[in-house]
Amino acid sequence: MTGAILSINSGSSSIKFGLFETGDGHVQYAAGGKLEKIGISPRLDVRDRAGDVIATREWVGKADLTHETLLEDLFGWAQEHLPHRPIAAVGHRVVHGGTGFTAPVLVDEAILQQLEGLCALAPLHQPHNLAAIRAIARLAPCLPQVACFDTAFHAAMPDVATRLPIPRKYGEQGIRRYGFHGLSYEYIAQALQEAHPALAGGRVIAAHLGNGASMCAMHGGRSVDTTMGFTALDGLVMGTRSGALDPGAVLHLVQHMGLSAAEAEALLYRESGLLGLSGLSSDIRTLHASDDPHAAQALESFAWSAARQAAGLCVSLGGLDTLVFTAGIGENDAAMRAAIVDRLGWLGAALDEDANRRHAAVISSAQSQVNVLVIPTDEEVMIARHTQRLLAGSG
Ligand code: ADP
Repeated sequence: MTGAILSINSGSSSIKFGLFETGDGHVQYAAGGKLEKIGISPRLDVRDRAGDVIATREWVGKADLTHETLLEDLFGWAQEHLPHRPIAAVGHRVVHGGTGFTAPVLVDEAILQQLEGLCALAPLHQPHNLAAIRAIARLAPCLPQVACFDTAFHAAMPDVATRLPIPRKYGEQGIRRYGFHGLSYEYIAQALQEAHPALAGGRVIAAHLGNGASMCAMHGGRSVDTTMGFTALDGLVMGTRSGALDPGAVLHLVQHMGLSAAEAEALLYRESGLLGLSGLSSDIRTLHASDDPHAAQALESFAWSAARQAAGLCVSLGGLDTLVFTAGIGENDAAMRAAIVDRLGWLGAALDEDANRRHAAVISSAQSQVNVLVIPTDEEVMIARHTQRLLAGSG
Protein backbone atom coordinates (compact mmCIF):
# COMPACT_ATOMS: atom_id res chain seq x y z
CA MET A 1 0.00 0.00 0.00
CA THR A 2 1.29 3.48 -0.83
CA GLY A 3 -0.49 6.61 0.23
CA ALA A 4 -1.01 8.21 3.57
CA ILE A 5 -2.49 7.09 6.86
CA LEU A 6 -4.16 9.46 9.27
CA SER A 7 -4.00 8.36 12.94
CA ILE A 8 -6.64 9.77 15.24
CA ASN A 9 -6.68 9.64 19.03
CA SER A 10 -9.91 11.36 19.95
CA GLY A 11 -10.61 12.28 23.58
CA SER A 12 -13.17 14.36 25.42
CA SER A 13 -11.49 17.74 25.02
CA SER A 14 -8.67 17.04 22.58
CA ILE A 15 -7.87 15.12 19.41
CA LYS A 16 -4.28 14.05 18.83
CA PHE A 17 -3.43 13.11 15.26
CA GLY A 18 -0.57 12.06 13.01
CA LEU A 19 -0.25 11.90 9.24
CA PHE A 20 2.08 9.20 7.94
CA GLU A 21 3.45 8.33 4.51
CA THR A 22 3.51 4.63 3.74
CA GLY A 23 5.74 2.50 1.55
CA ASP A 24 7.92 -0.63 1.72
CA GLY A 25 5.93 -1.94 4.64
CA HIS A 26 6.85 1.08 6.80
CA VAL A 27 5.18 4.25 7.91
CA GLN A 28 6.95 7.59 8.14
CA TYR A 29 5.72 10.57 10.11
CA ALA A 30 4.91 13.54 7.87
CA ALA A 31 3.08 15.88 10.25
CA GLY A 32 0.83 15.81 13.26
CA GLY A 33 -0.34 17.62 16.30
CA LYS A 34 -3.24 18.32 18.55
CA LEU A 35 -6.66 19.89 18.44
CA GLU A 36 -7.28 20.97 22.00
CA LYS A 37 -9.62 22.93 24.25
CA ILE A 38 -12.63 21.51 22.42
CA GLY A 39 -15.75 22.81 24.14
CA ILE A 40 -13.93 25.92 25.41
CA SER A 41 -11.93 27.69 22.74
CA PRO A 42 -10.59 25.17 20.19
CA ARG A 43 -7.06 25.45 18.88
CA LEU A 44 -5.22 23.41 16.24
CA ASP A 45 -1.42 23.09 16.12
CA VAL A 46 0.33 21.09 13.42
CA ARG A 47 4.03 20.27 13.46
CA ASP A 48 6.24 18.81 10.75
CA ARG A 49 8.88 16.09 10.96
CA ALA A 50 11.41 18.50 12.45
CA GLY A 51 8.97 19.56 15.17
CA ASP A 52 8.41 23.02 13.69
CA VAL A 53 4.90 24.44 13.80
CA ILE A 54 3.54 24.53 10.23
CA ALA A 55 -0.09 25.45 10.90
CA THR A 56 -2.10 26.92 13.74
CA ARG A 57 -5.73 27.80 13.88
CA GLU A 58 -7.78 29.18 16.74
CA TRP A 59 -11.52 29.31 17.06
CA VAL A 60 -11.56 31.88 19.88
CA GLY A 61 -14.54 31.49 22.19
CA LYS A 62 -16.21 28.94 19.88
CA ALA A 63 -17.25 26.63 22.70
CA ASP A 64 -20.11 25.24 20.60
CA LEU A 65 -17.91 23.79 17.84
CA THR A 66 -18.42 20.04 17.88
CA HIS A 67 -15.80 17.31 17.56
CA GLU A 68 -17.41 16.48 14.23
CA THR A 69 -17.02 19.97 12.74
CA LEU A 70 -13.43 20.17 13.96
CA LEU A 71 -12.65 16.71 12.59
CA GLU A 72 -13.97 17.86 9.22
CA ASP A 73 -11.47 20.69 9.30
CA LEU A 74 -8.67 18.36 10.36
CA PHE A 75 -9.53 15.82 7.68
CA GLY A 76 -9.57 18.60 5.05
CA TRP A 77 -6.11 19.71 6.17
CA ALA A 78 -4.80 16.11 6.06
CA GLN A 79 -6.14 15.59 2.51
CA GLU A 80 -4.41 18.72 1.27
CA HIS A 81 -1.13 18.31 3.14
CA LEU A 82 0.24 15.48 1.00
CA PRO A 83 -1.30 16.17 -2.43
CA HIS A 84 0.57 13.30 -4.13
CA ARG A 85 -0.27 10.82 -1.40
CA PRO A 86 -4.02 10.47 -0.98
CA ILE A 87 -5.22 9.23 2.38
CA ALA A 88 -5.58 5.46 2.05
CA ALA A 89 -6.94 4.77 5.53
CA VAL A 90 -7.66 6.27 8.91
CA GLY A 91 -6.58 4.47 12.09
CA HIS A 92 -8.17 5.20 15.45
CA ARG A 93 -7.31 4.58 19.05
CA VAL A 94 -10.27 2.79 20.61
CA VAL A 95 -9.90 2.34 24.33
CA HIS A 96 -11.96 -0.81 24.94
CA GLY A 97 -12.07 -3.93 22.81
CA GLY A 98 -13.74 -6.09 25.48
CA THR A 99 -13.13 -9.85 25.17
CA GLY A 100 -14.10 -9.87 21.49
CA PHE A 101 -11.43 -7.60 19.99
CA THR A 102 -7.85 -8.58 20.79
CA ALA A 103 -6.24 -7.22 17.62
CA PRO A 104 -6.80 -4.22 15.31
CA VAL A 105 -9.86 -4.57 13.11
CA LEU A 106 -11.27 -3.02 9.94
CA VAL A 107 -14.42 -1.25 11.07
CA ASP A 108 -17.84 -1.73 9.53
CA GLU A 109 -21.30 -0.87 10.84
CA ALA A 110 -21.73 -4.20 12.67
CA ILE A 111 -18.37 -3.82 14.44
CA LEU A 112 -19.12 -0.22 15.31
CA GLN A 113 -22.32 -1.32 17.00
CA GLN A 114 -20.46 -3.98 19.01
CA LEU A 115 -17.93 -1.36 20.10
CA GLU A 116 -20.72 1.00 21.10
CA GLY A 117 -21.92 -1.75 23.43
CA LEU A 118 -18.65 -1.33 25.35
CA CYS A 119 -19.12 2.41 26.03
CA ALA A 120 -20.28 1.75 29.60
CA LEU A 121 -16.86 0.21 30.34
CA ALA A 122 -14.96 3.33 29.28
CA PRO A 123 -17.47 6.18 29.53
CA LEU A 124 -14.84 8.91 29.45
CA HIS A 125 -13.13 7.71 26.25
CA GLN A 126 -14.99 5.15 24.15
CA PRO A 127 -17.88 7.42 23.00
CA HIS A 128 -15.39 10.01 21.68
CA ASN A 129 -13.26 7.34 19.95
CA LEU A 130 -16.32 5.97 18.16
CA ALA A 131 -17.80 9.37 17.32
CA ALA A 132 -14.58 10.12 15.40
CA ILE A 133 -15.00 6.93 13.34
CA ARG A 134 -18.61 7.86 12.54
CA ALA A 135 -17.60 11.41 11.62
CA ILE A 136 -14.92 10.24 9.16
CA ALA A 137 -17.34 7.65 7.72
CA ARG A 138 -19.78 10.46 6.94
CA LEU A 139 -17.05 12.51 5.25
CA ALA A 140 -15.52 9.61 3.29
CA PRO A 141 -17.84 6.60 3.34
CA CYS A 142 -15.55 4.32 1.28
CA LEU A 143 -12.33 5.03 3.18
CA PRO A 144 -11.09 2.04 5.23
CA GLN A 145 -10.99 2.76 8.96
CA VAL A 146 -9.14 0.64 11.48
CA ALA A 147 -9.81 0.45 15.23
CA CYS A 148 -6.71 -0.18 17.37
CA PHE A 149 -7.49 -1.19 20.93
CA ASP A 150 -5.82 -0.09 24.14
CA THR A 151 -6.80 -3.38 25.73
CA ALA A 152 -5.27 -5.59 22.99
CA PHE A 153 -1.65 -5.54 24.23
CA HIS A 154 -2.83 -7.06 27.52
CA ALA A 155 -5.05 -9.72 25.95
CA ALA A 156 -2.50 -12.48 26.51
CA MET A 157 -1.83 -11.68 30.19
CA PRO A 158 -1.73 -14.81 32.36
CA ASP A 159 -5.19 -15.84 33.51
CA VAL A 160 -4.50 -14.93 37.13
CA ALA A 161 -3.87 -11.30 36.13
CA THR A 162 -7.25 -11.10 34.40
CA ARG A 163 -9.43 -12.52 37.19
CA LEU A 164 -11.46 -10.40 39.61
CA PRO A 165 -12.19 -12.15 42.90
CA ILE A 166 -15.97 -12.04 42.57
CA PRO A 167 -18.41 -14.86 41.77
CA ARG A 168 -17.32 -16.71 38.65
CA LYS A 169 -20.55 -16.05 36.72
CA TYR A 170 -19.61 -12.35 36.46
CA GLY A 171 -16.18 -13.19 35.12
CA GLU A 172 -17.88 -15.27 32.46
CA GLN A 173 -19.87 -12.16 31.52
CA GLY A 174 -16.73 -10.11 30.93
CA ILE A 175 -16.34 -8.52 34.38
CA ARG A 176 -12.57 -9.06 34.48
CA ARG A 177 -9.29 -7.18 34.33
CA TYR A 178 -8.42 -5.90 30.83
CA GLY A 179 -5.75 -3.22 31.20
CA PHE A 180 -5.33 -0.06 29.10
CA HIS A 181 -2.69 2.24 27.52
CA GLY A 182 -1.80 -0.80 25.40
CA LEU A 183 -0.79 1.19 22.29
CA SER A 184 1.65 3.18 24.40
CA TYR A 185 3.12 0.03 25.98
CA GLU A 186 3.42 -1.72 22.63
CA TYR A 187 5.31 1.29 21.30
CA ILE A 188 7.62 1.26 24.36
CA ALA A 189 8.25 -2.49 23.92
CA GLN A 190 9.27 -1.91 20.28
CA ALA A 191 11.37 1.18 21.05
CA LEU A 192 13.14 -0.69 23.87
CA GLN A 193 13.84 -3.61 21.52
CA GLU A 194 15.42 -1.21 19.01
CA ALA A 195 17.46 0.85 21.47
CA HIS A 196 18.34 -1.74 24.13
CA PRO A 197 17.68 -5.28 22.82
CA ALA A 198 19.41 -6.84 25.83
CA LEU A 199 17.00 -5.10 28.22
CA ALA A 200 13.87 -5.72 26.13
CA GLY A 201 13.99 -9.45 26.85
CA GLY A 202 14.14 -8.90 30.62
CA ARG A 203 11.77 -7.88 33.41
CA VAL A 204 10.47 -4.41 32.56
CA ILE A 205 7.97 -2.04 34.14
CA ALA A 206 6.77 0.74 31.84
CA ALA A 207 5.18 3.68 33.66
CA HIS A 208 2.79 5.70 31.49
CA LEU A 209 2.28 8.79 33.63
CA GLY A 210 -0.03 11.32 31.98
CA ASN A 211 -3.45 12.64 32.94
CA GLY A 212 -4.40 8.99 32.85
CA ALA A 213 -1.65 6.95 34.52
CA SER A 214 -0.88 3.26 34.62
CA MET A 215 2.01 0.80 34.65
CA CYS A 216 2.64 -2.38 32.70
CA ALA A 217 4.82 -5.32 33.69
CA MET A 218 6.42 -6.73 30.54
CA HIS A 219 8.46 -9.89 30.20
CA GLY A 220 10.12 -10.55 26.86
CA GLY A 221 8.17 -7.60 25.43
CA ARG A 222 4.75 -8.99 26.39
CA SER A 223 2.35 -7.71 29.01
CA VAL A 224 2.13 -10.01 32.02
CA ASP A 225 0.35 -7.61 34.40
CA THR A 226 -0.88 -4.04 34.51
CA THR A 227 -2.34 -1.65 37.07
CA MET A 228 -5.59 -0.69 35.35
CA GLY A 229 -8.26 -3.36 35.45
CA PHE A 230 -11.88 -3.65 34.38
CA THR A 231 -11.93 0.09 33.68
CA ALA A 232 -9.30 2.81 33.40
CA LEU A 233 -10.06 3.84 37.01
CA ASP A 234 -7.92 1.25 38.79
CA GLY A 235 -4.29 1.49 39.87
CA LEU A 236 -2.34 4.72 40.24
CA VAL A 237 -3.60 8.06 41.51
CA MET A 238 -4.23 10.09 38.30
CA GLY A 239 -5.02 13.66 37.25
CA THR A 240 -8.73 13.46 38.07
CA ARG A 241 -9.28 9.70 38.54
CA SER A 242 -8.98 8.07 41.94
CA GLY A 243 -6.98 4.97 41.03
CA ALA A 244 -7.32 1.98 43.35
CA LEU A 245 -9.50 2.51 46.38
CA ASP A 246 -11.46 0.34 48.74
CA PRO A 247 -14.68 -0.61 46.89
CA GLY A 248 -16.35 -0.31 50.28
CA ALA A 249 -15.74 3.45 50.18
CA VAL A 250 -17.77 3.69 46.96
CA LEU A 251 -20.59 1.64 48.48
CA HIS A 252 -20.58 3.88 51.51
CA LEU A 253 -20.73 7.06 49.39
CA VAL A 254 -23.74 5.69 47.51
CA GLN A 255 -25.59 3.98 50.37
CA HIS A 256 -24.99 6.41 53.21
CA MET A 257 -23.87 9.73 51.80
CA GLY A 258 -26.52 10.18 49.17
CA LEU A 259 -24.47 10.05 45.97
CA SER A 260 -26.31 8.79 42.91
CA ALA A 261 -24.54 6.37 40.56
CA ALA A 262 -23.92 9.26 38.14
CA GLU A 263 -22.48 11.42 40.94
CA ALA A 264 -20.22 8.57 42.05
CA GLU A 265 -19.02 8.19 38.46
CA ALA A 266 -18.25 11.91 38.22
CA LEU A 267 -16.47 11.80 41.59
CA LEU A 268 -14.26 8.86 40.62
CA TYR A 269 -13.46 9.90 37.04
CA ARG A 270 -13.44 13.70 37.11
CA GLU A 271 -13.14 15.03 40.66
CA SER A 272 -10.59 12.75 42.37
CA GLY A 273 -6.87 12.07 41.99
CA LEU A 274 -4.50 15.06 42.01
CA LEU A 275 -7.43 17.44 41.56
CA GLY A 276 -9.45 16.00 44.42
CA LEU A 277 -6.52 15.78 46.82
CA SER A 278 -5.14 19.25 46.09
CA GLY A 279 -8.46 21.02 45.58
CA LEU A 280 -6.43 23.04 43.09
CA SER A 281 -5.59 21.35 39.79
CA SER A 282 -5.13 18.06 37.97
CA ASP A 283 -2.04 19.49 36.24
CA ILE A 284 1.14 18.47 37.97
CA ARG A 285 2.97 21.64 36.89
CA THR A 286 0.46 23.78 38.76
CA LEU A 287 0.91 21.62 41.87
CA HIS A 288 4.70 21.87 41.79
CA ALA A 289 4.38 25.67 41.50
CA SER A 290 1.98 25.95 44.46
CA ASP A 291 2.94 26.40 48.12
CA ASP A 292 -0.42 25.06 49.28
CA PRO A 293 0.25 22.05 51.59
CA HIS A 294 -2.60 20.17 49.91
CA ALA A 295 -0.72 20.42 46.59
CA ALA A 296 2.33 18.87 48.26
CA GLN A 297 0.15 16.10 49.72
CA ALA A 298 -1.34 15.36 46.29
CA LEU A 299 2.17 15.02 44.82
CA GLU A 300 3.19 12.79 47.72
CA SER A 301 0.17 10.54 47.12
CA PHE A 302 0.98 10.32 43.41
CA ALA A 303 4.58 9.21 44.07
CA TRP A 304 3.54 6.84 46.88
CA SER A 305 0.86 5.17 44.79
CA ALA A 306 3.15 4.87 41.72
CA ALA A 307 5.94 3.24 43.75
CA ARG A 308 3.49 0.97 45.57
CA GLN A 309 1.91 -0.18 42.31
CA ALA A 310 5.36 -0.75 40.76
CA ALA A 311 6.31 -2.91 43.76
CA GLY A 312 3.13 -4.95 43.22
CA LEU A 313 4.03 -5.55 39.57
CA CYS A 314 7.44 -6.90 40.66
CA VAL A 315 5.55 -9.91 42.04
CA SER A 316 4.29 -10.71 38.55
CA LEU A 317 7.79 -10.30 37.11
CA GLY A 318 9.78 -12.02 39.88
CA GLY A 319 11.97 -8.91 40.24
CA LEU A 320 12.86 -5.91 38.12
CA ASP A 321 15.60 -5.18 35.58
CA THR A 322 14.33 -2.03 33.87
CA LEU A 323 11.93 0.79 34.68
CA VAL A 324 10.80 3.01 31.78
CA PHE A 325 9.10 6.37 32.30
CA THR A 326 6.85 7.78 29.58
CA ALA A 327 3.97 10.23 28.80
CA GLY A 328 3.58 13.86 29.97
CA ILE A 329 4.75 13.42 33.57
CA GLY A 330 7.06 10.44 32.94
CA GLU A 331 8.91 12.24 30.13
CA ASN A 332 9.09 15.74 31.62
CA ASP A 333 8.83 15.77 35.40
CA ALA A 334 12.29 15.02 36.83
CA ALA A 335 11.17 15.73 40.41
CA MET A 336 8.33 13.20 40.23
CA ARG A 337 10.59 10.56 38.64
CA ALA A 338 13.06 11.10 41.50
CA ALA A 339 10.32 10.85 44.13
CA ILE A 340 9.11 7.54 42.68
CA VAL A 341 12.57 5.99 42.21
CA ASP A 342 13.54 7.12 45.72
CA ARG A 343 10.68 5.01 47.11
CA LEU A 344 12.01 2.05 45.09
CA GLY A 345 15.53 2.41 46.52
CA TRP A 346 15.14 -0.89 48.41
CA LEU A 347 15.10 -2.62 44.98
CA GLY A 348 18.53 -1.13 44.31
CA ALA A 349 17.14 1.57 41.99
CA ALA A 350 19.07 4.86 42.00
CA LEU A 351 19.13 7.84 39.66
CA ASP A 352 21.94 9.87 38.17
CA GLU A 353 20.63 13.27 39.28
CA ASP A 354 22.16 15.18 36.41
CA ALA A 355 20.89 12.73 33.75
CA ASN A 356 17.44 12.85 35.35
CA ARG A 357 17.42 16.66 35.31
CA ARG A 358 18.36 16.61 31.60
CA HIS A 359 15.61 14.03 30.83
CA ALA A 360 18.36 11.81 29.35
CA ALA A 361 17.47 8.48 27.72
CA VAL A 362 19.17 6.58 30.58
CA ILE A 363 18.74 8.22 33.99
CA SER A 364 19.90 5.49 36.40
CA SER A 365 23.27 5.82 38.14
CA ALA A 366 26.19 3.53 37.33
CA GLN A 367 25.61 1.71 40.65
CA SER A 368 21.86 1.24 40.18
CA GLN A 369 20.68 -2.37 40.08
CA VAL A 370 17.68 -1.31 38.01
CA ASN A 371 18.06 0.39 34.62
CA VAL A 372 15.89 3.48 34.61
CA LEU A 373 15.05 4.95 31.19
CA VAL A 374 12.97 7.74 29.68
CA ILE A 375 11.33 6.85 26.35
CA PRO A 376 8.86 9.30 24.80
CA THR A 377 5.76 7.37 23.79
CA ASP A 378 4.05 7.61 20.38
CA GLU A 379 0.59 6.10 20.24
CA GLU A 380 -0.10 7.71 16.85
CA VAL A 381 2.73 5.88 15.08
CA MET A 382 1.59 2.62 16.68
CA ILE A 383 -1.91 3.20 15.26
CA ALA A 384 -0.39 3.93 11.82
CA ARG A 385 1.77 0.77 11.92
CA HIS A 386 -1.23 -1.40 12.81
CA THR A 387 -3.41 0.24 10.15
CA GLN A 388 -0.77 -0.20 7.49
CA ARG A 389 -0.18 -3.86 8.41
CA LEU A 390 -3.88 -4.70 8.53
CA LEU A 391 -4.56 -3.14 5.14
CA ALA A 392 -1.48 -4.71 3.57
CA GLY A 393 -2.74 -8.09 4.80
CA SER A 394 -6.24 -7.59 3.51
CA GLY A 395 -5.29 -5.85 0.25
P1 ADP B 1 -2.86 12.78 28.47
O1 ADP B 1 -3.11 11.58 29.33
O2 ADP B 1 -3.99 13.77 28.46
O3 ADP B 1 -2.31 12.46 27.09
P2 ADP B 1 -0.21 13.86 28.96
O4 ADP B 1 0.56 12.62 28.64
O5 ADP B 1 -0.10 15.02 28.04
O6 ADP B 1 -1.73 13.55 29.25
O7 ADP B 1 0.25 14.31 30.44
C1 ADP B 1 -0.33 15.38 31.10
C2 ADP B 1 0.44 15.62 32.39
O8 ADP B 1 1.83 15.80 32.06
C3 ADP B 1 0.01 16.86 33.14
O9 ADP B 1 -0.03 16.63 34.54
C4 ADP B 1 1.10 17.86 32.81
O10 ADP B 1 1.30 18.79 33.85
C5 ADP B 1 2.31 16.95 32.69
N1 ADP B 1 3.34 17.61 31.87
C6 ADP B 1 3.30 17.87 30.55
N2 ADP B 1 4.40 18.54 30.16
C7 ADP B 1 5.14 18.73 31.26
C8 ADP B 1 6.40 19.37 31.53
N3 ADP B 1 7.11 19.95 30.57
N4 ADP B 1 6.86 19.34 32.81
C9 ADP B 1 6.16 18.74 33.79
N5 ADP B 1 4.97 18.13 33.60
C10 ADP B 1 4.47 18.13 32.37
